[in-house]
Amino acid sequence: MQVTNPELRPSGARSSSGIRTVTVLGATGSVGTSTVDLLKRGNGQYRVEAVTAHKNAVQLAQIARDLKACFAVVADPSAYAELKDALSGSGIEAASGEAAVIEAAERPANWVMAAVSGSVGLKPTLAAAKRGVTVALANKECLVCAGGVFMRAAAAYGATVLPVDSEHNAIFQALTAGPREDVSRIVITASGGPFRTWSREAMRGAKLEQALKHPNWSMGPKITIDSATMFNKVLELVEAHHLFAVEPEKLAVLVHPQSIIHGMVEYRDGSVIAQLGSPDMRIPIAHCLAWPRRIDGPAAKLDLAKIGSLTFEAPDMERFPALALGRRVLETGGAAPTVLNAANEVAVAAFIGGRIGFGGIADLVGATLDAAERRNATAEPQDIDEALAVDHMARSLAHDLLPEIAAKSF
Ligand code: NDP
Ligand code: MG
Repeated sequence: MQVTNPELRPSGARSSSGIRTVTVLGATGSVGTSTVDLLKRGNGQYRVEAVTAHKNAVQLAQIARDLKACFAVVADPSAYAELKDALSGSGIEAASGEAAVIEAAERPANWVMAAVSGSVGLKPTLAAAKRGVTVALANKECLVCAGGVFMRAAAAYGATVLPVDSEHNAIFQALTAGPREDVSRIVITASGGPFRTWSREAMRGAKLEQALKHPNWSMGPKITIDSATMFNKVLELVEAHHLFAVEPEKLAVLVHPQSIIHGMVEYRDGSVIAQLGSPDMRIPIAHCLAWPRRIDGPAAKLDLAKIGSLTFEAPDMERFPALALGRRVLETGGAAPTVLNAANEVAVAAFIGGRIGFGGIADLVGATLDAAERRNATAEPQDIDEALAVDHMARSLAHDLLPEIAAKSF
């Protein structure tokens, strides 16, 4: 896979008054509400420009009121009336539709949290990056679906991309310990999810409630299922490849069930620098919010004596076929990760809807990759529209393959 991105670099994200103007895309979600929590504790340090959601109008209106935001947007037009109603008398402007979400990203905030879930987050996140501001990037699909395009655009427009995903935030912090050319390996840790110790046969029959029980993290449903299949680590490998311009051979996954060490960087002299913290997304979000400084964080401070021991295991490619598919897309490069991501989104939605068994998720992703490769449809996307075209093509292939794979998965 080709390395395309620039170094992450500082920008003037804070105005001369010291007040940071922020926008939260995906404010009602898991990362969004953690961000909102930190903003509320900010004691006037932040001015909130815009907040967005999909259709959760009542919660969004409450967030907009609490944060005294200027603009609130629901992507789904059918939720507009409810939003407008819930904001009445507040003086907060309401809008709806995809274009309005992009407008929210384009409004003049100098720090934008990109926490919409899924590839629908691509266009608004890119719109924010094109303003050359700081983008706190939680939406991993931006990098998985169109990583080359996104990082090139961010560099061209002078945006600063700060990684919110806990592993990448950890690696970002550990990378300050030495020059980039002296990095020999980057290690992404994985909790192993709820099925870490299950046999492959038992996993094939896993129920939705079981897959949604993450041992350490509280997250949105899509990423929680991805943690159970370990597709989340695959997305994170691709994310790391683009964010840190690192070759796939230098990227490794290490299972660490306690989720205390979030990422490590090994340097050529053998030194390994790790970042540790409680498994609470408010730690990496606070890091991005204050960067390059630090702020007080509400997350529980780490008590290693109480935790007692940290353990590690090699990832099991046999029981977690997602990991082998991940290696395959990293080696193929181009749009292969885009195809994997789209097929996985279709598969996870089908699993949540009870239309495919747990083991069918990786089967469907593998079959979609085979079909896309047979069509020679994995060339590197040159722009967002090309990436989205591959995304749509892969979704349609996955939908076509779904009945056959689903039938074998129960
Ligand atoms: P959630 O599902 O909890 O929240 C998603 C947010 O996006 C909600 O605000 C939702 O609005 C909004 N949204 C959903 N669909 C659309 C749409 N079509 N148009 C506009 N907005 C939409 O997700 P998470 O917070 O868990 O994750 C967000 C992103 O961050 C994902 O890409 C995930 O991979 C990544 N991430 C998450 C982590 C976590 O700890 N949760 C950790 C690392 C990365 P509504 O409430 O109205 O549905
Ligand atoms: Mg993560």
